[in-house]
Amino acid sequence: MTENMTEKIYLSDSYVKEFDAKVVASQGNTVVLSRTAFFPGGGGQPFDTGTLETNGVEYKVVETRKEGEEVLHVLEQADQLGIGSGVHGKLDWSKRYIHMRLHTAIHIIDGVVEKENRGSITGGQIYDDRARVDFDIPGLDKTAVLDILGRAQKVVDSGVRVYPKVLTKEEALATDNLSRTEPGRELMSKLNEIRTIVIEGFDAQMDGGTHVSNTKEVGKITLFKYENKGSHNKRIEIKLE
Ligand SMILES: [Zn+2]
Repeated sequence: MTENMTEKIYLSDSYVKEFDAKVVASQGNTVVLSRTAFFPGGGGQPFDTGTLETNGVEYKVVETRKEGEEVLHVLEQADQLGIGSGVHGKLDWSKRYIHMRLHTAIHIIDGVVEKENRGSITGGQIYDDRARVDFDIPGLDKTAVLDILGRAQKVVDSGVRVYPKVLTKEEALATDNLSRTEPGRELMSKLNEIRTIVIEGFDAQMDGGTHVSNTKEVGKITLFKYENKGSHNKRIEIKLE
């Protein structure tokens, strides 16, 4: 749609709930902005919704998605929102914030699993009220899951800082285990700058999502569902209180 590169506010500051921007491209009901706090979805985290407002008219953002390096905002209807229009964007913040808490919870659970060398997390998906985590850990019964969650809760309760840090390729290659999947390692080998999420003194991972800035904000992790889907595949769902 455009050559303009959108400033992705959500990568440097995940707490920006409102922002001002200009429409730099539009096609049908889809607009690209000069800058945006709307997360376009990815890595198991859902896209943001919210509104764009201009001259007292409010446009609903029903979907945000990435196309190449661009962030596309899909509006319910976009009549008269042309290129050059100044807009005030607002996220559906309560929804985004629970995504941030759940996303951070998954990192902490993953960090516990990695430290104990018991196996690995093979997938995850964040929803608006809960998150799913898939493990490949032989013999992982419900008691062992509760044990992992208990260890994760200790990290949550210890209140450590969580922040994004951009590494050069050299720095990334010199850091162990920044990516825990084959596709992730492949992507990392192609990038010159690698954005990581650091949980101070505990874990660091290559990541493009949004997280809380202190583990305490995660709250209480509870096990909502445990499914034994085979000897190498256990699936859980967690909720936060
Ligand atoms: Zn993440």
